[in-house]
Amino acid sequence: MNHLPGHPHVHWEGDALWMEGVCLAELARSHGTPLFVYSKAAMLSALAAYQRGFTGRKATICYAMKANSSLAVLQVFARAGCGFDIVSGGELERVLRAGADPAKVIFSGVGKTRAEMLRALDVGIGCFNVESEAELEVLNEVASACKKVAPVSIRVNPNVDARTHPYISTGLKGNKFGIAHERTLATYQRAAALPALRVAGIDCHIGSQITDGAPYLDAMDRVLELVEALESHGIHLDHIDFGGGLGIDYNGDQPPAADALWKQLFEKLDARGFGDRHFMVEPGRSLVGNAGVCLTEVLYLKPGEHKAFCIVDAAMNDLPRPAMYQAFHAIVPLHRTADAPSARYDVVGPVCESGDWIGRDRELAARPGDLLAVLSAGAYCMSMASNYNSRGRAAEVLVDGDTASLIRQRESIADQIRGERLLD
Ligand SMILES: *Cc1c(COP(=O)(O)O)cnc(C)c1O
Repeated sequence: MNHLPGHPHVHWEGDALWMEGVCLAELARSHGTPLFVYSKAAMLSALAAYQRGFTGRKATICYAMKANSSLAVLQVFARAGCGFDIVSGGELERVLRAGADPAKVIFSGVGKTRAEMLRALDVGIGCFNVESEAELEVLNEVASACKKVAPVSIRVNPNVDARTHPYISTGLKGNKFGIAHERTLATYQRAAALPALRVAGIDCHIGSQITDGAPYLDAMDRVLELVEALESHGIHLDHIDFGGGLGIDYNGDQPPAADALWKQLFEKLDARGFGDRHFMVEPGRSLVGNAGVCLTEVLYLKPGEHKAFCIVDAAMNDLPRPAMYQAFHAIVPLHRTADAPSARYDVVGPVCESGDWIGRDRELAARPGDLLAVLSAGAYCMSMASNYNSRGRAAEVLVDGDTASLIRQRESIADQIRGERLLD
């Protein structure tokens, strides 16, 4: 198959780029650009790797919806039996609208408000992933006041060694997430003593775009040491939640496949006698990242003394990752043409910021009016999109075989100013 690296559901048909059974240039012509396009088969096959990894185990895959929270994307995962990892009251409302089972929703995040806790208790979510000792006290108060018992898991910080795994950003001492390793027992003892809380499990999440299995294995050891210590003090944990963070292929990256990684993790779990627990994972990027592309039109080519610029109609408000994290997205034309002269460009958007770039030093054969695909755009793009420069957010299409469904209209200026009021 003539498919693109990392994107098994995007391939060349002759000189034209297709996703599943749909020609991408035709989608751009009928819906305009910038346009996000997602492959349903790609999402389900990414999910299937996790499902294979959990065959024969008690497990819940909770899609970390901050990666892409569009309702139809949530629907695909809800229908496939997923739970959801949410980080705000807004995400809770979205996932309920998409038809999720509230009992499979877990609520992460360091700054949950009382109102968010109350709503989550009302709908009966599966678990609160508590991130601080102060949050435990507030959750207990909120649950007591409404005569409910809140299921809790405590997010522990496994403090995986940064020197051996320097790309891990959330599982280390000195960041805002989770409870320090040495405070774990005391925190669980406090949770067990609070009347409106029920200890359900333990969780960790060590970072994102992890391309090596070793830090997961290290973190597993640290977490299991804690589970052993907690249980020896009479605190039983029904579930162990390993968080998300598995990386994708943006630029030749080779993360372990989810099923291969979980085979290794289960060997450890079985060896230490924890293989029969209920497992949860919270994958975000690895379920949707390479299921999506962003289509954009070349507006202008601008030669320069030091650099040439390819100015496109997508910008940092649509694709924030390069500006935020100097992230790499591959960029390919929707049509391969032998005759177009190719040159080296910085691909940039129209936003009035020098930080508004999408790719640097890219060899491209492009003319004004040509269409390009920005790859690996399924995760942390649309969900982070903004209206900066009063640009409406892009439209979104979901491809399923040879059917393409518009799942989000392009945002109009009326949509943008709906809540605003002029002075009298
Ligand atoms: C963001 C996040 C995830 C998902 O991370 P990915 O790198 O997208 O898999 C999972 N759990 C928590 C608590 C998160 O904050």
